[in-house]
Amino acid sequence: MNMPRRRKQTNEFKELAAERVERLFELAEDIFKTRPILADSYVRAAWRLKTKYNLRLPKNLKRKFCRKCLSFWRPGVSCRVRIQSGRVVVTCLKCGRITRLPYLGKHGFKNTKGT
Ligand SMILES: [Zn+2]
Repeated sequence: MNMPRRRKQTNEFKELAAERVERLFELAEDIFKTRPILADSYVRAAWRLKTKYNLRLPKNLKRKFCRKCLSFWRPGVSCRVRIQSGRVVVTCLKCGRITRLPYLGKHGFKNTKGT
């Protein structure tokens, strides 16, 4: 991978931050069942890192939280997921925001049964 030399330090921070973001989402997923409020605060922490270091979120993380109210999305609990004409329509049950995403099959929501 080629990295511009003068931004090396920032890139190292970015990599660390990206790892932390993924870790925070893992923690959020683990803890959501028992302490959903804590899961939301992990999402907010991850979002702060993301904006601070201008990170790109991996595709699988983009559909794990609401970009408006930053709450953790658990399909059927904190968000509603529907497939509509080949697209995933996610409705945040906290703020009501509707997000349309391309349908990614098994790489999208893990709980899509069948296929
Ligand atoms: Zn929301």
